[in-house]
Amino acid sequence: MIVQERTYEGIPVSAGIGAGRVHLLTRTPAMSHEPSAIDDSEIEAEVQRFRAAIDLSREQLEKIRRQVAEAIDDKHAEIITAQMLFLGDIEVVDKTIDDIRREKKNAEFLFNRRIDELIQMMSRFDDEFLRARDSDIFDVAHRVTNNLLQATASLLANLAPDSVIVAHDLAPSETAALIREHVAAFVLEKGGPTSHTAIMAKALEIPAVVGVANITSYIDKDTPIIVDGLTGHVITNPKPETIEYYRNEQVAFTELEKELELLLDQLPETLDGYSIRLRANIELPEELEHAAKHGARGIGLFRTEFLYMNRAAPPSEDEQFEIYRHALEVMHPHSVVFRTLDLGGDKFFSNVPMAPDINPFMGQRAIRFCLQQPDIFHPQLRAMLRASAYGRTRILIPMISGLEEFLEVKRHLRQVKEELKTANIEFDPNVELGAMIEVPSAAVVADTLATEADFFSIGTNDLIQYTLAVDRGNEKVAYLYEPLHPAILRLIRAIISAGHESGIMVCVCGEMASDPTMAIILLGMGVDELSMSAVSVPSVKKLIRSIRLSEAKLLAEEILGQPTIDGVKQIVRRRLKIHAAKQKMKKFGPQRPA
Ligand code: PEP
Ligand code: MG
Repeated sequence: MIVQERTYEGIPVSAGIGAGRVHLLTRTPAMSHEPSAIDDSEIEAEVQRFRAAIDLSREQLEKIRRQVAEAIDDKHAEIITAQMLFLGDIEVVDKTIDDIRREKKNAEFLFNRRIDELIQMMSRFDDEFLRARDSDIFDVAHRVTNNLLQATASLLANLAPDSVIVAHDLAPSETAALIREHVAAFVLEKGGPTSHTAIMAKALEIPAVVGVANITSYIDKDTPIIVDGLTGHVITNPKPETIEYYRNEQVAFTELEKELELLLDQLPETLDGYSIRLRANIELPEELEHAAKHGARGIGLFRTEFLYMNRAAPPSEDEQFEIYRHALEVMHPHSVVFRTLDLGGDKFFSNVPMAPDINPFMGQRAIRFCLQQPDIFHPQLRAMLRASAYGRTRILIPMISGLEEFLEVKRHLRQVKEELKTANIEFDPNVELGAMIEVPSAAVVADTLATEADFFSIGTNDLIQYTLAVDRGNEKVAYLYEPLHPAILRLIRAIISAGHESGIMVCVCGEMASDPTMAIILLGMGVDELSMSAVSVPSVKKLIRSIRLSEAKLLAEEILGQPTIDGVKQIVRRRLKIHAAKQKMKKFGPQRPA
């Protein structure tokens, strides 16, 4: 059979070239489990592990059931009761245990095989109601499997070093587990430019392309594949000349990275002497080193929710305290901005039970969840405050939508401070408390919020999604996800003005800051700090060092006057062209006509 080269197109979300062989995940990884043999001596331990996962799942569901009954009504809570009944189903649970004893294989594999059989059997029924129970079973099976695995990482422990993960979708928690393995690149059918899975891939410098329609239906495992995270091209069965082309691209990319590394000790200073602080966004403590290596001055956004993923129970106060203290010590003398738990949206963990929302990005996400769950929120605040005794700490609150909510957060913080004082536990009493401005209502009332907050951090990823009503993780509407929309530019400008009028600092920590051109625009608008994926710090710094603040201001002024996205883009293109020509002239001297 002649194998033909084929090119697929997607959205590039993490730069670099990755090449290897396809590791196909036809489902999310927590559900697709390879069989692995166990010894006779391990059988009972495996059965116990399975039973413990079932018990833990039952406890989690019971908690969710109670919450749903309280928050909605008993009728809705019955959905969860049905899921709990499934955990006692003899056909699935007892038979899985029989299978473990008889076949001597791992519980994940045997359990999911039973689930597959059950789902197939149900799909043959005429009854619409029974067929529709698929997703319930899937959901509960996913929970059991997650509890069984505790980390998806073990699933992919035996990945070949040049594996390219090709999947329909990956949850951010799954991505966080995968990155520790040897993955050459990612290709996903789903996802948008600022989905948290995309952000994770970038944080760990793994080339990634998302939004590649139906790719899992067309390719087989072990197919040779090249992923171009710069253009969004994915090539299967590449011809020798294609391989050669990408080898050269890879060399060019590495050279560019080396060139950028030379800027490590240089300041992000404009030609007319204005210096802006560039910081890094991180998700996991392992990224602290990356941040320092790329020349970030401190952490502008620590997405602490990733600490809650891929484990059986949420991290304790003490464990969080150690992690936060470590981050402060590594970043000394720079500060670290710890964002409180931003659970919900596209980030869920089986260890933090929550009632399902029909529209999770608009539901019980981030601070809304924390304010309803002080038993989760307070230990985190305590850990952050305790860490503040060891370095410059800022606490940042996600998804603030108005003043009342922020005042309520302040009450919680005061209460926790009082408790620490009473217990004679050291902390910085002046620790700064900031509001993320990422919900349009907060942007509109930024002037009042600015009188209560110590700083603002603009989360452009969500601000764009909520303002333009464009799901940031949906490839089908990714073409509408536009940071240069006049509405976004005007909102950002208004937030900066509101912050400055009250004398507080305004930072941008969304992905917009990671793009050098956007960073220049933000600089021109008057932003005080930019926080971005660590890998983007050198290229943003390079562009900043090549312009004047006055030019950036002019550019910002000009685009703010434009009524259309097209008009904005034309101006940006024209200005960049002029800038590139000036740079060239500086390098080679004025070009004489021939
Ligand atoms: C944002 O929304 O811009 C942001 C930085 O937070 P996250 O991407 O984690 O939602
Ligand atoms: Mg956000």
